[in-house]
Amino acid sequence: MNPKILKLSPSVINQIAAGEVVENPASIVKELIENSLDAGAQRIAVDLVEGGFQLIRVEDDGCGMGPEDALLCLERHATSKLQTVDDLQTLQTMGFRGEALAAISAVSHFELKTSDGSLGTRVLSEGGNIVRVEPTARNRGTTIEVRSLFYNVPARKKFQKSASASAAQVTKVVETIAMAHPETSFSLNGKEFAGSSQKERIQEILGEHEHEVNGANLSGFVASPAKAMATRAGQYFYINKRPIFSPLLSKAVKQAFGTRIAEHSHPRFVLFLEIDPEAVDVNVHPQKREVRFRDEGRVFRMVQEAVEKAFSPKMIFSEPISFTPLPAFSFQETPYREEAPPLKEETLPLVFQEKPIAVLGSYLLLQKEGWILVDLRAAYARILYDSLRSSRGASQSLIWPLEIPLGPGEEERAMALSELGIECRILKKTLVIDALPSFLEAADFPSFFAEWKEGKNLEQISARLGRSVKKHFSLEIATFYWKKLRECSDCLYDPLGNPIFAEVSEEDLAKVIRGKHG
Ligand code: ADP
Ligand code: MG
Repeated sequence: MNPKILKLSPSVINQIAAGEVVENPASIVKELIENSLDAGAQRIAVDLVEGGFQLIRVEDDGCGMGPEDALLCLERHATSKLQTVDDLQTLQTMGFRGEALAAISAVSHFELKTSDGSLGTRVLSEGGNIVRVEPTARNRGTTIEVRSLFYNVPARKKFQKSASASAAQVTKVVETIAMAHPETSFSLNGKEFAGSSQKERIQEILGEHEHEVNGANLSGFVASPAKAMATRAGQYFYINKRPIFSPLLSKAVKQAFGTRIAEHSHPRFVLFLEIDPEAVDVNVHPQKREVRFRDEGRVFRMVQEAVEKAFSPKMIFSEPISFTPLPAFSFQETPYREEAPPLKEETLPLVFQEKPIAVLGSYLLLQKEGWILVDLRAAYARILYDSLRSSRGASQSLIWPLEIPLGPGEEERAMALSELGIECRILKKTLVIDALPSFLEAADFPSFFAEWKEGKNLEQISARLGRSVKKHFSLEIATFYWKKLRECSDCLYDPLGNPIFAEVSEEDLAKVIRGKHG
């Protein structure tokens, strides 16, 4: 044998390295857009042909490059953004490895046109070898065209997604970055992203996100619990405007949602964390999506607390203003579904700034600066759920115990009812109910039990019972519900995560009228 060690040529080295940075068209678009942002671009246009496999073009109006830099930038480890290792700690720009352009040009037919405002330069490269350099006319800015991606690495080409799947991936990349940079205008295949504030941009891209998060270091939006998804696809997390992936922070948000969402679903959110660059290490993954925090516990708590605050009832309600009893409301009338223990004067609920005005069907209208609508059915579901969960809801003895015949194997599920504060016994294959929690009516019990037997959970059953309330609500009863609701664990959502309240503005009312007649 005659061993022979050969030094790899730079273009082969670049092809190997390309695997790290250049996975697919989406990762290329991400690198190119980040370069444009680093160059201070105000407009960035992205165009694709065949999901990017035929052509990716990214054009910007940033600072551009002079002729020398235009050549240098294609070399590996050529970067204008980092000089010493210490710079890594304080880096504010997106890219810093000086790897992207070298890697992308190594696996494509690559064209760079750039100008720093004086002389423009055009550089053509094939598989990483520069084949042509010439002056060209161009306004300040940079255009990069990537053609025939992976033409020289067939193995990589084989593992690519379809053109349409790739286009969808690119779209998500552009949207993700565009949400963090509302001051920059973006277009994708000619379609401009509207919105010049962060809120507008996010709404344009993702639709409404109801709860605004407004912490010292964390801002953004979380969607209502009812909009949670089976995957994390609706989660956008940024650190210092850079999109990142962090199972840790995902978990912090989920924790803040608490029992508002089911165990296996994932909240939707767009959250921006501003943090001292020294407290975070973004250099963990070549794609720079994963991060490591110096103090994980602190960041976790900060995120959790800020998101919890967004759900806090205070966002909708004012603080209690006094402890004076409320003489205006009488509870003599037996409240619907509630044999309320007689309210003694001194235990009357607090007075809040919201004033009950009227009942509209199954909604209570409260007046604050504007108005608030309370969905009384959803409120009832929440109150019922909480009273069953706490199992200390004052039990109401039934004058005529309910008797329900049990089928084979149903005893165990029946006896589990006692955990809900339901007093029951089993007598010869018959379930006998002696007392029910105050918010569960005897008339509703048979259907409650039928669903309970089927294995439905308390969330589903309470919400269903809430929706099936048909009775008319008086203002007293509605007010009573509203006050009860405020003692609940989560007065903003029914047990399935549907909102109980909505704020209504004069503008909303105008829309109703215009909508009806316009
Ligand atoms: P990095 O971004 O990590 O520095 P790149 O390979 O992505 O590495 O880019 C190399 C260099 O090319 C950058 O540091 C920058 O000086 C220059 N460059 C790349 N893209 C642009 C652009 N769109 N406008 C101006 N300069 C650019
Ligand atoms: Mg870069």
